[in-house]
Amino acid sequence: MMSLSSCNSFATDYGVLKLERRSLLAELMSKGVRLTAQRRVLVEIIQTATAHLDVAALLKEAQKREPSINRATVYRTIDLLKKLRLVDELDLMHLNGEKHYYEVKTRRDHLHLACFQCGRIEEFAAPLFEELKAEISRHKGFQIQVVRLEVGGRCSSCRTSATSRKDRKEESPSRNRRATA
Ligand SMILES: [Zn+2]
Ligand SMILES: [Zn+2]
Repeated sequence: MMSLSSCNSFATDYGVLKLERRSLLAELMSKGVRLTAQRRVLVEIIQTATAHLDVAALLKEAQKREPSINRATVYRTIDLLKKLRLVDELDLMHLNGEKHYYEVKTRRDHLHLACFQCGRIEEFAAPLFEELKAEISRHKGFQIQVVRLEVGGRCSSCRTSATSRKDRKEESPSRNRRATA
């Protein structure tokens, strides 16, 4: 069973390309959007998050700083950020049911690798992903505004620990044989 703390934290390896997140406050200001103190708290939490957060996690974190913030404030702020295309909404392979997670848009699109075993979410950006987008636009004449690609499977550390568990299992019968011989 995956724990919430191990679940869904950003992995630091971004693949081939470095990911740079956009600055929410600066972009909101440049668009002339005025923020209430409550919304500013939420924007700061989303900006500095070290994991992909869902509404419940956002609300909990926000209420620590500003107890008057309620669920409706969170939803309205997310809607605003989504409309301005400053955040992305993810379902992360539904590892935790129907929850949605939010993250500040990165300057370059990236994909998410979700581990079905430990819940770890890794981010990956690669030139090939950019090429795929260009090919889609070229072939379909489609102007891409949002791309979401999620990959589910087993992360490298879960694979490693599974392998060493298997090794131990394969070792023990031979040790027993030696012991009884
Ligand atoms: Zn894993
Ligand atoms: Zn991400």
